[in-house]
Amino acid sequence: MPKILLLPGDGIGQEIVPEAVKALDAVARRYHATFEYTTALVGGAAYDAVGHPLPESTLQQCRASDAILLGAIGGPKWDHLPVALRPEVGALLPLRKALGLYGNIRPAVIYPSLAAASPLKPEIAAGIDLVVVRELTGGLYFGEKKRELVNGEERATDTLVYSAGEIRRIGRLAFDLARKRRKHVTSVDKANVIESSRLWRQEIVKLGAEYPDVALDHLYVDNCAMQLVRRPSQFDVIVTENMFGDILTDEASVLTGSIGMLPSASIGGEVALYEPAHGSAPDIAGQQKANPLATILSAAMMLRLSFSMETEARAIELAVRQVLEQGHRTPDLAQNGERPVTTAGMGSLVAEAIS
Ligand code: NAD
Repeated sequence: MPKILLLPGDGIGQEIVPEAVKALDAVARRYHATFEYTTALVGGAAYDAVGHPLPESTLQQCRASDAILLGAIGGPKWDHLPVALRPEVGALLPLRKALGLYGNIRPAVIYPSLAAASPLKPEIAAGIDLVVVRELTGGLYFGEKKRELVNGEERATDTLVYSAGEIRRIGRLAFDLARKRRKHVTSVDKANVIESSRLWRQEIVKLGAEYPDVALDHLYVDNCAMQLVRRPSQFDVIVTENMFGDILTDEASVLTGSIGMLPSASIGGEVALYEPAHGSAPDIAGQQKANPLATILSAAMMLRLSFSMETEARAIELAVRQVLEQGHRTPDLAQNGERPVTTAGMGSLVAEAIS
């Protein structure tokens, strides 16, 4: 029986994770599967309860589970804490590192019924169907950092480090994924100015030779940011390093209508972590305004990637599509005159559609 650890976290995380569980329960009923759930503390909620955003007991529960479903963490209540205790730095980054989750997969697909919600013109948004594969445990966010006084002036240093091995393992993930899709990888770097990007490109080119059936091209990150809004349908699989991926995935997310639509999977270690691409949205937390679809679609990715339950994953994705086609919208998706449904209302509609 697959053991799923639920980490609702903070803000809207508390509202959206139960809606993904509704979808999983509907799948369990329809396909006679059984999921075992455990819930643990993470983020600000964990800090408030036990004084640390990633308690050792939570980490142990992560390791003891078959997959993890995370809501979101962080919020203004914890922004004053020392950096190491802030939910994002104190929980999210160490969680990824501890579990060896070096690859983040974020699909961005435009649903035809949501074309009007995209900030792009409909003819440009049409056909967006891409995946960003982001390196998650190296680069600038994990390199050595320091502050010092130099000639009486404060100076800060971050270090951007990548080894050839780190580049090859994320590259392989991207090429393997492209083989199951449209067989096209775009590698994004800044090889004109950054040394680690030159190593990135060198290793990706070498790897590309092992995948002669996959087309490979390279873009500088600034050009990629532009191409994503100019002609996003040109992309199939984008592979990039940690910080570039952080920025590009937020850009890609909004192209599809709302950041509340985008699921993600972080993989590479013994247990994978699934979470929506967005944060804890403190501005709408506790008001039943959050869109739970990104979390529900993350649960579908979990079924596919962790449990090899392709039919069940598709049932969730189809249900989401149907509910949107029927015109149901959370406030982030509602256009003029459309009456929005609540977070729980959307979750129930998807669960009914699965059933
Ligand atoms: P955010 O993603 O939380 O919110 C950005 C905007 O998108 C807000 O206007 C919010 O209302 C809206 N939004 C986000 N998710 C939505 C949803 N499901 N439905 C409808 N609207 C949605 O980003 P932020 O405001 O920059 O960060 C808020 C907090 O979340 C910060 O503490 C940040 O550090 C944290 N954060 C956590 C994660 C994570 O847990 N993985 C990721 C990003 C940010």
